[in-house]
Amino acid sequence: MSHANCHGCSLCLLSCPMWQQHRDVQYSPQGIFKALQHNASYDDISSALFSCLLCGACDILCPENIDITATIKTLRKESFSRGIEAQLNKKVTSLLAQPSSRVEIEKKNTIILPGKALRSNPVRLIKIQSLLSNETDASLSLDDGDDIALALEVGVEIPEHRLHRFLEPLQGAKRLYVSNGHLLKSLRQWLPASELLAPGHRLSQLSKLTKKLNKNDLYLIEARSFHHDHQQKVTHYDQLRHQQGCQMNLDLQRNAIPTAAGGLNAIKPMLNSKEQLRWILSGRNIQRIIVECAEDEVVMSQISDLPILHIADLMEA
Ligand code: SF4
Ligand code: SF4
Repeated sequence: MSHANCHGCSLCLLSCPMWQQHRDVQYSPQGIFKALQHNASYDDISSALFSCLLCGACDILCPENIDITATIKTLRKESFSRGIEAQLNKKVTSLLAQPSSRVEIEKKNTIILPGKALRSNPVRLIKIQSLLSNETDASLSLDDGDDIALALEVGVEIPEHRLHRFLEPLQGAKRLYVSNGHLLKSLRQWLPASELLAPGHRLSQLSKLTKKLNKNDLYLIEARSFHHDHQQKVTHYDQLRHQQGCQMNLDLQRNAIPTAAGGLNAIKPMLNSKEQLRWILSGRNIQRIIVECAEDEVVMSQISDLPILHIADLMEA
C-alpha cells in the first residue's frame, strides 16, 4: 500500500507527535499523503516530512495498512534527489564517509550495540552487559553504526563499503542487542539468521529488576522498537503494568508516546523535545522516572527534577 491509498480517516493523527505539537493536519501522515494526492510539491511537504520522528505509532493504526514510516523514508529520499534539504543530506553523507576504526571483536554468540548515549556511562554499560549475558558472555561491538542509523532515519543512501564494514563483525552472532530502533529494524533484514532484540525490552523481562517498580513510577518504554513488535510487546508491557502498578508512556490506543531525543531531531530540531516530554508527564502523579533508553534519560533530566533511573539501575534502587 502506498500513500495513494490514504482515504483520510485521520486515525494516524491520534498518536502523532507532529500533530500533537502543531495541531495542523498538514503535520501528519494524512496531511502529507493527501497533499501528494492533490499534486503538492516536495517543497510544500518537506517541513512535515522532516519533522516526523519515525516513531512508528501511526503504522499500527492505519486501516489501509500503509507502511507509513517506510513511505516517509522513501519520500525523504525523493526530496534529496530534488535538491531539498541539501545541507542535511551533505552532513549525513559526510558522517558516513568518516573512517570508522577497524572493528575487531571477539566472535561471540551474543553481541551488544549499545549506542553513544549508553557508552558514555561505562559503569552502567558493564552492568547491562552482565545482565544480558546470562549463560553466555556477551561482547560489545565497537562500531555502534550510529551514522548508519541516522542515514536510515534521514533517508540518505548508505555506501556499500560502509555497510559491509559494519555488518562483517556481526555475521554469525546468534543474538544481537541493538539500542537504536531504526538499526534494529534494518538489521532484521540484513542478518535474518540472528535474533535481534532491544536491550531495554529484554531488561524489562527480568523480574529481579521489574519487582522494584511501583505505582509511583513512570516507566518510559522505548517507542520505536515497541512499535516494530507492537502485538507481542503490548501484551508484555500490559502485564508488567498490571503486576507492578507502575504508569507507562502509553496513550489510549496503547501506543508508546516517544520522546524526541537523539537521531534526526537532535541534529535538526523540528519538534520541541520539551513539549514532547510535557505531553508524556502531563496529569501524572509520580515520584520517579524509569527509562529503557539512555537518550531519554538525558532529555528527561532537562525538564524534570524527579529522580531518573535507567532500568538497569533498579537493582540497587
Ligand atoms: S512515525 Fe510518529 S511522528 Fe512520524 S508520522 Fe507516524 S506517528 Fe507521526
Ligand atoms: S490512518 Fe492511514 S488511511 Fe487513515 S488518514 Fe492516516 S494514512 Fe490515511
